[in-house]
Amino acid sequence: MKIEDVRSTAKAQRIAAHSHVKGLGLSANGTAAQMGGGLVGHEQAREAAGVVVELIKCKKMAGRALLITGGMGSGKTALALAIAQELGTKVPFCPMVGSEVYSSEVKKTEVLMEHFRRAIGLRIKENKEVFEGEVIELTPEETENPLGGYGKTISKVVIGLKTVRGTKQLKLDPTIYESLQKERVSVGDVIYIEANSGAVKRVGRSDVYATEFDLEAEEYVPLPKGDVHKKKEVVQDVTLHDLDVANARPQGGRDIMSMLNQMGKPTKTEITEKLRAEINKIVSGYIDQGVAELVPGVLFIDEVHLLDIECFAYLNRALESNLAPIVIFATNRGMTEVRGTDMRAPHGIPVDLLDRCMVIRTGPYTMEEIAVIIQIRAKVEGVVLKDNSVVTALADVAARTSLRYATQLLTPASILSGVKGQDHLTAEDVKEADSLFYDAKASARLLMESPSKYIS
Ligand code: ATP
Repeated sequence: MKIEDVRSTAKAQRIAAHSHVKGLGLSANGTAAQMGGGLVGHEQAREAAGVVVELIKCKKMAGRALLITGGMGSGKTALALAIAQELGTKVPFCPMVGSEVYSSEVKKTEVLMEHFRRAIGLRIKENKEVFEGEVIELTPEETENPLGGYGKTISKVVIGLKTVRGTKQLKLDPTIYESLQKERVSVGDVIYIEANSGAVKRVGRSDVYATEFDLEAEEYVPLPKGDVHKKKEVVQDVTLHDLDVANARPQGGRDIMSMLNQMGKPTKTEITEKLRAEINKIVSGYIDQGVAELVPGVLFIDEVHLLDIECFAYLNRALESNLAPIVIFATNRGMTEVRGTDMRAPHGIPVDLLDRCMVIRTGPYTMEEIAVIIQIRAKVEGVVLKDNSVVTALADVAARTSLRYATQLLTPASILSGVKGQDHLTAEDVKEADSLFYDAKASARLLMESPSKYIS
């Protein structure tokens, strides 16, 4: 029984643009300063979101959802992510856009169900017998990087295993070098070796990982019998969707460890209702035994007005389920048609679902707020903005187009600036990058002006 290297199916790339958002930035009494948690402005919305976090924490949000309304690029996603972060560090955040449900291959409700399960985490705790070892030798080797330049890879690792008779040296199998590298293991770090399987784990700065290698193989010093080993609690965070995917293929046991073992092995088999029900049953069993703990995350559905009446009916039911994540909807629409009907309703959401929603509004930003957000993003992306003129130039672009376009312009502009041999961005670079690309509005305008030039 061993936990394999976990490859989560989280949609990380979607939230990369919001990596500076760490929380709602509220004080102990729930009030928002002008800036906090990586968020700027929207004090009222942040305070309201803080109340929602409290409701979630005391389990008073069951059957309800949150709706964030506001114009495009008014920070709705950023606010939803901040809520997820306030709920805890390993709380899943699953973003989707309403239009994603329309696929020619998968049923709309199936897409919704998958996202629901991506947003429900499971924390599995296990007591493992491990040997403790310290990295005593780690040889880096210069290798050519396929993207150009040279990088360092590990070519040899020796660890000192603590045993009753003193420290025993053990050379590690090359198959685990990549994981060690990823974890930035260095000399002096403590790593753990699983007693039964010989899987190597490192319990340190980030996640626990494990890769198998054969301690019994001739090249390695075998573990002496009767050596000291301790029990260590190993925690693994997965989502229900991870377990669905991993177990969609026919395989052996249905205990939690076999289920985890299937992770990271790609499968094309369909996830059936039956399989999900079976996984739910097993998971509930493990929760009852105290081995696993449910971590409801946040499902964020942007442009919710793009869903249709069937989806809304499904959501109404799904919100009632005892395995439901926190659902946050976002839209920039006012009174509009509910898709699939001829009814009009506020935000294109049927009134029965709207009745279940708490609504928070995000208004437009001031120029000062835009400037601060741009500066935060520049810092995260390692782009140096030395003077005010470049910040003003970017803020002007944001005001004319959108905050998203302006922040997305940072890296291309800095590439242009780098080509000129500069170490910081200037207003000139921003202008140049802006002239090369089209923001959404400009692109739409172009299409309207000369429709005959494009295939429709
Ligand atoms: P929406 O969901 O309303 O369209 P968004 O949250 O996706 O907006 P973007 O338009 O993508 O926002 O915003 C561009 C960048 O500005 C992103 O990196 C986002 O995290 C950041 N941002 C937006 N609002 C805030 C805020 N209030 N504080 C800090 N950063 C923000």
